[in-house]
Amino acid sequence: VVCGTAKPLTITFEGNALSDGHRATFTADAIEVFRVLDRIRADRSIPPIEVQLVVAGSFAAAVQANQRQSEGPFDAERPFGKVAAKNLAQDDRGERVVIVFDAVPWSSDEGGYDRFQALGTIAHELAHPILERARHSSGVLDGVTFPSFTPGEIARSISREGLDEYRADAICDIVLAQVASKTVDGASVPAVTWDAAGESYVRGVQELFSRLHPNLPDVVQTYREWRMDIESMWREVVRESEGLVTAYIHARAHADQSDAPVAILDSIEIRELPFVRLYLKDTMPPYVEAVREGPLLPSLAEFAAIDRTVVDAGEKMLREIWGRLGLSFTEDSAARTFGIHVAEPIR
Ligand SMILES: [Zn+2]
Repeated sequence: VVCGTAKPLTITFEGNALSDGHRATFTADAIEVFRVLDRIRADRSIPPIEVQLVVAGSFAAAVQANQRQSEGPFDAERPFGKVAAKNLAQDDRGERVVIVFDAVPWSSDEGGYDRFQALGTIAHELAHPILERARHSSGVLDGVTFPSFTPGEIARSISREGLDEYRADAICDIVLAQVASKTVDGASVPAVTWDAAGESYVRGVQELFSRLHPNLPDVVQTYREWRMDIESMWREVVRESEGLVTAYIHARAHADQSDAPVAILDSIEIRELPFVRLYLKDTMPPYVEAVREGPLLPSLAEFAAIDRTVVDAGEKMLREIWGRLGLSFTEDSAARTFGIHVAEPIR
């Protein structure tokens, strides 16, 4: 395995979405971020990755066009906001990745990113392929089938997603500190993401967690009263479970890179929310601690152990949350089949 040799970064602009000036800025920022990250990758003995960036005027269409297998129409809306960029694996080993960026935030100042946000988004997205490559190379995915289907597979996959989002956000802040002052000439820039966006991250978590009660127990109850089929109910529970882990982890990751300790789950605005009191207060912290532990930029040798600890803690957390929602499962992991038993959710 050759670790020191960087594979090329290619950048493609699709449509007439960006002016020449904006294209030049994006290109310069992406190359700078890639250089910093590729040094880190090589230093951690993680094999190189071929990365292609596509900045697309039609974001959803470009995402769909770069999926290996058609996953149906792509929807950028998430329970906690809108996706502006997406990593798309091009093989089973994480060797080739296409990252599609929505051109809109880069194209105009109104509602668009400032340079700091733009750099942060690029850094976050470019961190993902390194983590994914490390995971494949570490061997922890040997025997793992995609896409996830059984509750156990789904729980482990959501847990891994949280781990990667946490690391990608942390790496993003580390990279920002290195490149922002160089790139945003003369202008004073915030040191880390939290300085600029901390408040909105906390507000986002607060809004999401407030909505989950009564919404999530209601979804299960709706099924129990025969007003929803079991597949739709389970799909909704999975979607919201993924959303709550990801939203919280993003906030936690950037908060952890700020100068002072920040309470989120324990904050006055959030800790008394019914969903937090009943479902998250005691279930989430062990997972979050597992995610926070260990080096932010793990070497290939360390990766498997971190992944295992996080996945175990995350599966435990999600099964407990699902249990409180009234859901228990009989699973045959070899046959990849499962049944759902539904009882009354706690309120
Ligand atoms: Zn991400």
